[in-house]
Amino acid sequence: MSITIFPRSVWGVYASQARREHASAPPVASSNPNWSPGGGVFIHHRGRELPWGGDYPSEEDCRRDIAAIYEDHVSDTENFDGDIAYNFLICQHGHIYQGRGYERGEANTAGTVDGFGRNAGFYSICALLRSNHLAGVGLLQGFRSLIEHLRTAAPRLTGARILPHSHEFDTECPGNLTMYAQQGSTIDPAAPWTGLADIQVHTCQKWVNAAYSQVPGYIRCPEDGRTGWATVLSLTQGLQHELGISPTVQNFGPTTFQAVRSRDLLPSQEFRFNLIRIYNGALWCKGYWSSTSHESWTSDSQDALERLYSDAGLNYGDSSERREMWPYVANALLCMDQFRLVPGGDPNVRYIQRRLNTRYVVDMRIPAMRLVACDGYYSRETQQGLMMAIQYEIGIPDQSINGYFGPGTQAGLLGTGSGALTGHLRFLFRSACYFNSPTMTSGTPPAPLAYSASDLDTDIQTASHVGWVRAFQQFSQIPVTGTNDYTTWAQLLVSTGDSSRPAAGCDCITEITAQRGNQLYAAGYRIVGRYLDEHLAPDDPYFLNKALKPAEPQTILDAGLKFFPLFQYNGTQLGNFTFTKGYEQGTTAHHKAIQHRIPAGTCIYFAVDYDALDVDIDSNIKPYFLGVKAALAELGNRYSFGVYGSRNVCTRISREVGARWSLVSGMSWGYSGNLGFPLPENWSFNQICEYQLSSGWGIDHNVWRHSADPGVSHLDPNQ
Ligand SMILES: [Zn+2]
Ligand SMILES: [Zn+2]
Repeated sequence: MSITIFPRSVWGVYASQARREHASAPPVASSNPNWSPGGGVFIHHRGRELPWGGDYPSEEDCRRDIAAIYEDHVSDTENFDGDIAYNFLICQHGHIYQGRGYERGEANTAGTVDGFGRNAGFYSICALLRSNHLAGVGLLQGFRSLIEHLRTAAPRLTGARILPHSHEFDTECPGNLTMYAQQGSTIDPAAPWTGLADIQVHTCQKWVNAAYSQVPGYIRCPEDGRTGWATVLSLTQGLQHELGISPTVQNFGPTTFQAVRSRDLLPSQEFRFNLIRIYNGALWCKGYWSSTSHESWTSDSQDALERLYSDAGLNYGDSSERREMWPYVANALLCMDQFRLVPGGDPNVRYIQRRLNTRYVVDMRIPAMRLVACDGYYSRETQQGLMMAIQYEIGIPDQSINGYFGPGTQAGLLGTGSGALTGHLRFLFRSACYFNSPTMTSGTPPAPLAYSASDLDTDIQTASHVGWVRAFQQFSQIPVTGTNDYTTWAQLLVSTGDSSRPAAGCDCITEITAQRGNQLYAAGYRIVGRYLDEHLAPDDPYFLNKALKPAEPQTILDAGLKFFPLFQYNGTQLGNFTFTKGYEQGTTAHHKAIQHRIPAGTCIYFAVDYDALDVDIDSNIKPYFLGVKAALAELGNRYSFGVYGSRNVCTRISREVGARWSLVSGMSWGYSGNLGFPLPENWSFNQICEYQLSSGWGIDHNVWRHSADPGVSHLDPNQ
């Protein structure tokens, strides 16, 4: 990467007449010859705020200021070796200036870091930034490119350290750059560019670590000016300590909630500085503009708090609501939920979220319910809030409301829930429709069909509402009634749907003998999933004996059944999912399928048999499937690949890697990858329950989608 470093002559012209020539000349080697800048870089700033401004409106101001630094340093006959002390200077406009350049400078305090002299082993870079200035993008990118240059292209290369002047030394320097003066920050070219950090969040982080690091259980948060769980949990521990809870823990649980309630003081009434600091800090972390002096509850703090109340659907103007909701708001403050629409969020989802808070948290005061995020995203937490609201409306007693789709809830939905709906329960049914939108039409090709937001708040059975419900029922392969029957409620609320419904598909680890094939057929099954291989040896304690036996495919077909091939080695462990393993397993699956004379064109399902999070999908699951895909392609694409996993895994692997079909592990309804995600467009099987068909023979019960994966109905005669 090439960068522009302006030579000394550019600012040297502003030096006094007598020194202009020296200032403008290239730097000369220091009289202190010990210089090997392998340690890294030290970051400095320009010092305290100036009473008369001291901003840098134009580039000439920047250059004059560097000349002024130079004059200061050369006038000091003791400290700076007769020249400007910094190696480089960077201004707010992003320009980089040569100081001592690649020669030794003397900007630092005496001493060493990891054996490197603070001056002899480091470059010193000064920002033209005073204590009252915040770093902008230009300045930070200047640092980033200069550090990259010093690491990779300078005549004297430097190491990975990025340190503030204040490192092990008592100085305010480098002011508001301190939060960036560390490895891994946005100015570190080895880390991704993450843009500006927040100086108020940094202030809060520094304070909370300093105030509570000796408190039992306390875990420090990073001091990087970036909001996140680590910081709000540190603040939570601070709150616990202030309210007399010990040891402190990284969780805002019932004890903390009760302690806030017992204190019974709104932030505006609070007189303890530390609590006010925690509340202001939490507001900053949530992205609200609060008090810049964190120990004071100012009108900015108050405005921010009132905005948060209203964002969450609460009425601050009502004095009893304001007081009684404060523990809920404190809880909401100390988590990462957002109560404003976030980028990509849906205003209609936010409308539903606020309404859940207003009615079920404020008015009905459901004991187990906390404020639902109002960010416009249908998430696991929103789904839980919706479930609690439904439980309330179908008459589950307050104390039993828990957000789970248990027997009481199912009974209520079979009864009250399946009748003609009006008012709140009708709104909740339509909200559930909205959360499962879009569904797919049954046309060719199928097209997404969105639920119309105008149908949310009406009792009218509009054509668009009924049409969407019917399309959803068709897509989910449940009876197409156009009504809010139990099966439809279940399908909207949990990934199993109505787990008692009949299904034509199943899968198992057991060999299908002629007798078992007949049993399956008699039980209504028409297709069975079987494993192509097993990686464990027969003497392994975990050996399942799950692989297809040599004559078994023909036996299955002879029973009038079809089958679909599954592949799973260590599908429950993240470590199984790498490109290399995907490639190896894809290769093995291909050869096993050929051995069993499975015809070309068959889809083989590769299993992700655990609750993989998005980060796992990015880091491991996708590479694994890319490996599978590469192996099958290498072998001529005789077989296609499908994915077995949660709704989220199936959707992402289908969209991003190209899996042909999705076998959805719907029966794991509590998976984070199932809650809050609609059924994948290309679902072929939905695994909705498991049971023993006969003693010792467990099977998974899979809804087999019409016109989806046909499975194997004959064997290839040529093999
Ligand atoms: Zn400094
Ligand atoms: Zn400038």
